[in-house]
Amino acid sequence: MNVHDSERLAGVLEQAGYVPVSQVPEKAARATLAGDEGADVVVLNTCSVRENAANRLFGNLGQLAAVKRERPGMQIAVGGCLAQQMREGIVDRAPWVDAVLGTHNLDVLPTLLERARHNREAAVEIEESLKVFPSTLPTHRESVYAAWVSISVGCNNTCTFCIVPHLRGKERDRRPGEILSEIEAVVSEGAIEVTLLGQNVNSYGVSFGDRHAFAQLLRAAGTIPGLERVRFTSPHPAAFSDDVIDAMAETPNVMPSLHMPLQSGSDRILRAMRRSYRCAKYLGILERVRERIPHAAITTDIIVGFPGETEEDFEATLRVVEQARFAAAFTFIYSPRPGTPAADLPPVPEDVIKERYARLTALQERISEEENRAQEGKTVEVLVSEGEGRKDGATHRVSGRAADNRLVHVALPRDCEPGARPRPGDMVRAVVTHGAPHHLVADSALHGGLFEVRRTRAGDAWEARERRAAELAAEAAGTAPVQLGMPRLRTRA
Ligand code: SF4
Repeated sequence: MNVHDSERLAGVLEQAGYVPVSQVPEKAARATLAGDEGADVVVLNTCSVRENAANRLFGNLGQLAAVKRERPGMQIAVGGCLAQQMREGIVDRAPWVDAVLGTHNLDVLPTLLERARHNREAAVEIEESLKVFPSTLPTHRESVYAAWVSISVGCNNTCTFCIVPHLRGKERDRRPGEILSEIEAVVSEGAIEVTLLGQNVNSYGVSFGDRHAFAQLLRAAGTIPGLERVRFTSPHPAAFSDDVIDAMAETPNVMPSLHMPLQSGSDRILRAMRRSYRCAKYLGILERVRERIPHAAITTDIIVGFPGETEEDFEATLRVVEQARFAAAFTFIYSPRPGTPAADLPPVPEDVIKERYARLTALQERISEEENRAQEGKTVEVLVSEGEGRKDGATHRVSGRAADNRLVHVALPRDCEPGARPRPGDMVRAVVTHGAPHHLVADSALHGGLFEVRRTRAGDAWEARERRAAELAAEAAGTAPVQLGMPRLRTRA
């Protein structure tokens, strides 16, 4: 959700005349620090789901303070959940910050930057409820081949460990027509994959009284020409109904992957977390999904060390993990979020949590490896992506996601000409030769086996965007920056 909000923040800045340098954190950090040619505005879009978010924010702001001293006129803005929570507290601790905005008013960013420049003091604006539905804002999408489309914001649940409802408010659903129009628009711009986003996607429709709205939305997305892959995140086990499983199974472009947060395998802890399903229901959903979609890869989130978790509770979690055979699990050590009910409960001792965490990750690592080894010999179709294979250059591979969302590194044939290389957005078919705990390797090309590239519209769109970016960079290099007040805006063609 935050990644997508960053695309909106970049979009509103772009509409106001700013030229985005990068939304990718590492690239953006490099650009920020790049001497005179560095960015004029840095926006930190924060998350407060994890405890160390504040430490990281103030660590980053400390580094930026030094950059700002060297580059007067540079502006720093902080948005996102932590800003919504800390408000003026951010400027109190880091007075060199120019603008602070919350999760409900992304659209005000350019105004706040301008106001801060004019008044020469920080501008802070936080709204208590959604003022502008983020999807109505302009977007600068980081990827041309895969797009996020939000179907709702906020959450009506009250999980006792979670700060989201407090920071994002009650669930607000977009109308299906609007969502489908946005999907059609991104597809017409080149995207072949769309991920539907919501805090709790399968309660979608609650605000306009249609319990089957999410399943219908999946089926409707299945009729959009050119849309090859539909994903969604995240569902909630309590509201996960069979009509969604049917829609997944019967809609060819809805991918066979499901990320379903478990959080705990102990009914007692689920009750304390105020998660309204129980383990039997959870496992029943998995069974029905596998009955209808046998090749589905199921992943999850699990919290270790929720207050009051006993050894018995933890062992119940291990048992559910054994039974569920997750392809992967995001495991988290419980961290109290101030303002949530669980934050006031007595914590489980740190050494106990660490020991449990190690046992859980070892178990899941073994299962993930077994599940991935079982993929060996299977043919996968991989949507090639950017930035997923850090060693691709050295290993002569490309990387991307299989239909079931597994990360796959695919070897290129030894004699692959640069022009024949699949581009991000293209599809490659190859055979899995090795399953590791966190990825698959498909090196069939090296053994004279399958290697098929399907050049796609998305690959064409990626190539066109790269060409355009190179032209803009060349133009910018030969064009003096335009001085408009304090920030330096580069001309846009
Ligand atoms: S359903 Fe998800 S977003 Fe909503 S309160 Fe629970 S954990 Fe938070």
